[in-house]
Amino acid sequence: MSCRHSNHTFPMTPKLGPREGQTYVACLECGVELQYDWARMRIGKELKPTPSSRVSVLPKPVVRAA
Ligand SMILES: [Zn+2]
Repeated sequence: MSCRHSNHTFPMTPKLGPREGQTYVACLECGVELQYDWARMRIGKELKPTPSSRVSVLPKPVVRAA
């Protein structure tokens, strides 16, 4: 958790999907997505990962207790 997110992508504002209308950047170091403030040209809070933007978490198989 020591990443300062200083190295990130160009800000993007998707027109579809879970980040619709929200400007954000993705950190190239740790991969986290962050809000981006165009007016101040600064990154903001971390965004929670969405299923469509990151495929790092696979659904767990259902284990039935017999
Ligand atoms: Zn980072």
